Amino acid sequence: MTTIPVVRAARGSTRTAKGWIQEAAKRMLMNNLDPEVAEHPEQLIVYGGRGKAARDWPSFHRIIEVLDRLENDQTLLVQSGKPVAVLNTHQLAPRVLIANSNLVPHWATWETFDRLDQAGLMMYGQMTAGSWIYIGTQGILQGTYETFAGAAQKHFGGSLKGTITVTAGLGGMGGAQPLAVRLAGGVCICIEVDPTRIQKRLETRYLDTVAASLDDALTQAQAARDAGEALSIGLLGNAAELLPDLVRRGFTPDLVTDQTSAHDPMWGYLPVPRPDEDLNELRRTRPDEYLQRAREGMAAHVRAIIELQRRGAVAFDYGNNLREQARLAGVDDAFSYPGFVPAFIRDSFCEGRGPFRWVALSGDPADIHATDQALLELFPEDARLQSWLRYAADQISFQGLPARICWLGYRERDRAALLFNQMVADGRLSAPIVIGRDHLDAGSVASPYRETEAMLDGSDAVSDWPLLNFATGVASGAGWMSFHHGGGVGMGYSQHSGLVAVADGSEEAAWRLSRCLTNDPAMGVIRHADAGYELAQDVARDRGLDLPSLGI
Ligand code: NAD
Repeated sequence: MTTIPVVRAARGSTRTAKGWIQEAAKRMLMNNLDPEVAEHPEQLIVYGGRGKAARDWPSFHRIIEVLDRLENDQTLLVQSGKPVAVLNTHQLAPRVLIANSNLVPHWATWETFDRLDQAGLMMYGQMTAGSWIYIGTQGILQGTYETFAGAAQKHFGGSLKGTITVTAGLGGMGGAQPLAVRLAGGVCICIEVDPTRIQKRLETRYLDTVAASLDDALTQAQAARDAGEALSIGLLGNAAELLPDLVRRGFTPDLVTDQTSAHDPMWGYLPVPRPDEDLNELRRTRPDEYLQRAREGMAAHVRAIIELQRRGAVAFDYGNNLREQARLAGVDDAFSYPGFVPAFIRDSFCEGRGPFRWVALSGDPADIHATDQALLELFPEDARLQSWLRYAADQISFQGLPARICWLGYRERDRAALLFNQMVADGRLSAPIVIGRDHLDAGSVASPYRETEAMLDGSDAVSDWPLLNFATGVASGAGWMSFHHGGGVGMGYSQHSGLVAVADGSEEAAWRLSRCLTNDPAMGVIRHADAGYELAQDVARDRGLDLPSLGI
């Protein structure tokens, strides 16, 4: 029997692997499973329902062992969390290539996936779980901040001050919501069915307080709103029950959304239990009934959101596929409220603007503070970035290795990366920096209910783009690249690619970074320019992209 270790990445400037990319991959895989970072590390689950970092513990140990012996002209292949081969490639190739949860489209269902998963043949990689660049809840906080700031801009004059948001789900991703709303100046009620999740968000300061009941939550929320104060309130309960309850009481929030793990109706979204019912037992013994009950819950949840929208709330889907599950349960108008990308984010994507995250392999928070300062000086004109970085530096607790995220656009991410590389080279940083991104990104994702919802030319489901993004990263010097299926919205609904690079201060790193962090965000501009967005076409023209089919 394999013993389950408590995993924590090494810190400092001494490596045991044969190169910094291998060392970085090793530390990032381990960091994903650090109990401070992962939601259920003992099951190798990092976040997002059952998003895993490695298929099983023997695979985890084998990956670590290979990364320690991997030469600087070799590449490790990882198939759904299992190391399957070491190939001789060349020095500038990625050191690791990862494919997670990919199924031929006709078979790309949870049913097929579950059968293969149970047979030990696959794992669910989510987005940054199986690609080893999860950095805890902070990672999603910036994207969530962008979303709520976008909502504030569009509907509430630039601030959420004096507004109440109701949402659900305080998991790995959803846990960012209360802090993001607070950051935008608003009041947030977050419904969560698992008390340990509420406790964890209180401890990490993502949540201010917890209410004893719905009445208590509403009283606290209204008092804070009337005083113009920002406040986040956790509320224990099931959203499928409490949202309809809000409707019955006639309370209409200003904003309503949801981030429960609705993408996974069997393991992610909890139905409302009957008295004395054990839901785990129901799932084990009568999975079809469990599934039906979960979908019924989601139907009630979505009907309530639609009614709140009708009464004046701004409703948006938060990328978890809740609307589709409700549609499957018979809610024909489930899609009558928009996804967050077309609602608030698409203009950023047209500029190749999206997640840029980095991690200090030293383990020293001072390195992140030095990079924060460097970016404040590099982009003085970007007001949103300035206020985010100042806030983050001051308020965010690190989980695992110290890390930071911000959003940068095309021809910005490469500049930031090269600056970090220079700082490693001249000793301003005490060890190399890992640079990567989420897959909630401008040009690396095909996800018709999320990143590519309502594209101008109707190309929502075209997944040539993430494949081109994956290949472009491989051809442009990434440290490791991954291609995933089903992240965010579940099996059958998305395909996406991940990129990670390493700034170790060397000339080789500068070569790699200048190419891969130029070409990766370029894909966002290219994808949106091709779909007909004028903003993306202007950016392409102004920043020198060569797009032959558009005459640019
Ligand atoms: P998670 O599994 O860590 O957390 C989900 C939480 O929802 C859990 O704490 C669970 O207890 C709670 N929950 C489940 N059913 C509930 C119910 N009926 N009522 C109240 N609470 C309930 O997942 P996560 O990492 O937080 O991700 C949440 C969802 O957001 C996933 O579907 C994920 O794919 C999606 N996601 C969205 C984005 C985005 O940018 N919009 C990014 C990543 C992930």
